[in-house]
Amino acid sequence: MANCPKCSSRQAFLKIGFLSKLSDKFRCRKCNSIIEADKTTLTTVGAGIGAATYPTLNWIIYDSGNPLIWLPIYILGTASIVFWLAFNQFKTVKLTLAKDQNQKLTSDWIKERLEKIKLPPPLPPNASRVDYLKRKYYRKSLRELERIANDPNMTKDAHKAATELIQKKNVN
Ligand SMILES: [Zn+2]
Repeated sequence: MANCPKCSSRQAFLKIGFLSKLSDKFRCRKCNSIIEADKTTLTTVGAGIGAATYPTLNWIIYDSGNPLIWLPIYILGTASIVFWLAFNQFKTVKLTLAKDQNQKLTSDWIKERLEKIKLPPPLPPNASRVDYLKRKYYRKSLRELERIANDPNMTKDAHKAATELIQKKNVN
């Protein structure tokens, strides 16, 4: 069963069902331990389906004589097979704790990346020109902000916006 070997909390179907050879490790959603799956049925079958896609589509479109009937059949058929296998994997997989709990998973890497993309704060209801410019300059580096703040060709509002962002960066 798809439970965490450490805290025995149940893991998500989508996570376990679609584990593949390329990513057979994941983190427990409760205790955050790295868990390994003993088998990844979907990889082989997925590769098979992938390899068969081009010839199958070719046949459906040019030779079947009835692409409007065969295409939905093919899509539904493939989707059913994949989901059935995923469900099977979910039911029968054996999960163990990964030996190396300090490794970095792809999902960790993606999460770190996403955290780095900080979104600018929303504009206040009666936003001034300075508020608008601060939003526009939000992702600029300290150096770029200093250049704006000291550029005699930029407006006073631009100077103010850049200066306020510099002050905020220096506080953090
Ligand atoms: Zn756990």
